[in-house]
Amino acid sequence: MLAGIGVGAAAVAGPVALMGAPEPPPDPLAPPAGTPEQEAARALDALRRVAEELGRRAELSGGEAAAVLEAQAMIAVDPSLAAEVMERTGAGTAAEAALYGAFAAFRRTLAEAGEYLAARVADLDDLAARAVAAAAGRPMPGVPARDEPFVLVARDLAPADTAVLDLAKVLALVTEQGGPTSHTAILARSRGIPAVVGVAGALDLAEGGLVVVDAARGAVFPEPSAAFVDEVRVAERERLAAAETASAGPATVRTADGREVSLLANVGGAGDVADAVAAGAQGVGLFRTELLFLGAERPPSFDEQVAAYRPVFEAFPGAVVVARTLDAGADKPLSFLPLGAEPNPALGVRGLRAFRGGQEHLLNTQLAALAAAAEGTGAELWVMAPMVARAEEARWFAQRARENGIAKAGVMIEVPAAALCAREILAEVDFASIGTNDLVQYTMAADRLLGTLGDLQDAGHPAVLKLIAMTAYAGVELGRPVGVCGEAAADPRLAAELLRIGVTSLSMTPAAIPEIRATLAR
Ligand code: PEP
Ligand code: MG
Repeated sequence: MLAGIGVGAAAVAGPVALMGAPEPPPDPLAPPAGTPEQEAARALDALRRVAEELGRRAELSGGEAAAVLEAQAMIAVDPSLAAEVMERTGAGTAAEAALYGAFAAFRRTLAEAGEYLAARVADLDDLAARAVAAAAGRPMPGVPARDEPFVLVARDLAPADTAVLDLAKVLALVTEQGGPTSHTAILARSRGIPAVVGVAGALDLAEGGLVVVDAARGAVFPEPSAAFVDEVRVAERERLAAAETASAGPATVRTADGREVSLLANVGGAGDVADAVAAGAQGVGLFRTELLFLGAERPPSFDEQVAAYRPVFEAFPGAVVVARTLDAGADKPLSFLPLGAEPNPALGVRGLRAFRGGQEHLLNTQLAALAAAAEGTGAELWVMAPMVARAEEARWFAQRARENGIAKAGVMIEVPAAALCAREILAEVDFASIGTNDLVQYTMAADRLLGTLGDLQDAGHPAVLKLIAMTAYAGVELGRPVGVCGEAAADPRLAAELLRIGVTSLSMTPAAIPEIRATLAR
């Protein structure tokens, strides 16, 4: 058994699909494993397999993406590329280095050929990395594509990886890195996909081998017996039936002691609203707007933003929708906002910080686009800024929001300094929302991406609860709502405790709403 941190309660069995780690360039002087003919055969076989894999992906994806993938597959079997490779293996170079060198030569020609072709250089680098991995017998880097459902095993998943992942095929996620609030964990929770993160040795699992992933136990079982797989499937059916019975209930939850609580949804865009409405969310407590623009190479225009935001507002007429302004930086880089290399990105220019000092116009455009997108939908727009540390930043943001005609401006409380001075901060804004994922990371000094520190990433630690209580207390004193929108709100062990210490609403991934509703009703 391999142990890690479980996300969710489900247990599933399925075949492993490994997501390869980024390929380092091969050693150009590494001695070849075989004769020049054998090395040439190994290299050409790798190219053929890369072309096959890309062809399979093209079939699965369809549309414009398919055309790009087919073009890439054709490059992999281009005769002039094969000639370059054979020239190198003929001179005694190993297959991996010959492939790498041949792609590098191709790359130079393309890069010199002008702007359009230069844009294809990144595709060539991807092809080269795939071919080198295939020749070396390692899994190809990048998200795997399969016809059949699979258990995705990776070092960790970045938002950019999951954007191109067909989640309908993913039975479970297993990562070597990542803690309970990493993006892998957030994605898994939001899609109801069981996951075990922070699993040491996960990448040693055999490609295609059967595993059982048990999220409730935080365990991965390689090579399970048929009897064990049956047992897991029966238990899973019973668990689902019990969860369905427990989750039925009214939209507004009333706790056993008679308090009414709003359960709100965390969404990343139009694709999430149907689930949020179906789960009975009474509004949106966190609209992570940056997720819409992770792949954008230039700042989205006002019109593009209005079009992307509007469906979220339209889905919630008469309800509050809290939109967070772009939370760029650290684990969510936006390529149109280059922040420079930083030794500690989580402590760097991220969140609201990225829009001060020269980039205010981007914030203004976003605020104006949010106001325009909400206009006429009947939804009530609240906006909030991420990564605020000081009252002065809160004041600056609220002023920008008001200048753009937005009546409700708030901040996220995710930096300990902001929780400790919540009173001063709340005096500047209309509401606050506690981002426990980052608040835990900064309070416990434990990187949310590091699975090895999973035990420190605990929103139930008294240090974190004290900061939440201080913030909620300041809200009560000043009469301002203080919600929680981090993963702690979706934790059945913490939800009631958060309300007890003064939090006024809980916002979570739609998939968690039924269980939290059932928990609070008890
Ligand atoms: C948080 O930090 O708790 C939060 C909700 O924001 P994100 O997870 O997007 O950083
Ligand atoms: Mg955060």
